[in-house]
Amino acid sequence: MELRVDHLLDAEKATAGRLPGRVGLPVILTLRRARDGGSFDGSEAARVALLQRLAGQGFRYVDIEEDLQAPALDAHIRESGARIVRSLHDYSGVPPGLSRRFSALARRTDEIPKAAVTPTTCAQLAELLNVFHGLGDSERVLLGMGEIGFPTRVLAPRLGSTWCYASPTARAVAPGQVTPVTLEDVYRFRDITRSTSVYGVVGNPVMHSRSPMIHNRGFTALGLDAVYLPFQAPDLDGFWKVADLLRIKGLSVTVPHKQAVLSRAVRGDAEVRAVGACNTLLRPEGRGSWSGMNTDSEGFLAPLRSMFGGAVPTGLGATVIGAGGAARSVVAALSGAGARVLVLNRTIENARTLAEVFAARSGGIDAEGLESARGFSDLIVQTTSVGMSPHEDADPAPELKLSGREIVYELVYAPESTCFVRRALEAGCRVVYGRKMLIAQAMRQFLLFTGREYPPSVAENLERGFD
Ligand code: NAP
Repeated sequence: MELRVDHLLDAEKATAGRLPGRVGLPVILTLRRARDGGSFDGSEAARVALLQRLAGQGFRYVDIEEDLQAPALDAHIRESGARIVRSLHDYSGVPPGLSRRFSALARRTDEIPKAAVTPTTCAQLAELLNVFHGLGDSERVLLGMGEIGFPTRVLAPRLGSTWCYASPTARAVAPGQVTPVTLEDVYRFRDITRSTSVYGVVGNPVMHSRSPMIHNRGFTALGLDAVYLPFQAPDLDGFWKVADLLRIKGLSVTVPHKQAVLSRAVRGDAEVRAVGACNTLLRPEGRGSWSGMNTDSEGFLAPLRSMFGGAVPTGLGATVIGAGGAARSVVAALSGAGARVLVLNRTIENARTLAEVFAARSGGIDAEGLESARGFSDLIVQTTSVGMSPHEDADPAPELKLSGREIVYELVYAPESTCFVRRALEAGCRVVYGRKMLIAQAMRQFLLFTGREYPPSVAENLERGFD
């Protein structure tokens, strides 16, 4: 447990020393200055005096910043039997020469060096991961703050950090912190060891992704020594270094990288070639070249097949709203299944370009396009990002009238029920939720990653809802 004394009221500060005797846990005493991300705004002399007063009261560790020169405080901490954590913080980046600075942090062998820095690119995350190399088994705490640094928090046991920080409140104490419950329930923190295999989803943005929950629940149910993480990647070039340093074995790929990763995949399966995009990368040894696959089309078709009790009927008339990456997989899947497809999109040119690849029809989301949709109305697939949280009241095609005979397939899965879905339900349509496709494509990835079928009972639970 860490006690952040800088967050306490003055009256609480006076009694803070009672905590270690009460909780039965090793407690870290920390009194962080505002410029290091804390809340203490008194003088340095007042801070040292408060640390001096509290240090002898049963705390196991005392966190002191690298620049604090207070030999009397250091001596007092050691006499009390506590250990000094000598810390370095950077809330805006990864400081140059971090490796050298980190090695020089501990002033004596009984001190624990700690660095919390903020990678703003994957290239910087790779720099941070490089610092771990060469540290052997020595005690240390090294972590990346923010969304890009997040994997270093979950992977603390694999990277050899002595502990990691989580915050029990919804408001994190530092950027990127999650609650202990999330660490354990979503990221199986207690099961991670030095040899745990790493998988993940690479994209930008990606922190909202439900894929970690889906894959980690599968690993837990099958007792596999593996973890799946979100990798926020503004720079794909930097990310490949991260993937090598962590020996990542398998990746889900999401917006905006599904086409860019093709340059890395030395082998692409038939679906990658048909769709022209890749949502799965695999290298079972954790090194060497990647094979690319695409599970989106099959994931899209699976819920439809079960709705039709087998195959999708040939000649089904389908309107696909949207012409982005997801629409591409949908149109490829429907064309492959023998459906007649019309693509309607805000930007007509994009609809036309996509439709041409699969010999489909195209139009805009306008009076003319909606009129054409009358002949393609067995199935309406909503593939645009309109209606995604936080724009939950937006409708991608408010003028599209639903008779109740259409099957409406909504790809957006956050929120679970969009404005478009509500309209379809009111009209009496049968609805397929985006969650079903997400789970179906993830189950295929899981099989590719592990060689094992995704546990059906876990899938059934997820299909009832994510929360
Ligand atoms: P994308 O490549 O960025 O394409 C976005 C599409 O939405 C384009 O057709 C774009 O039209 C349209 N669009 C965006 N803003 C619009 C607006 N204000 N009005 C009308 N149209 C608008 O994204 P994507 O990868 O295809 O993903 C789209 C959605 O599908 C996302 O919500 C994603 O989460 C979801 N998805 C779900 C699954 C699943 O498994 N359930 C899988 C993949 C994707 P323009 O061409 O005119 O820009």
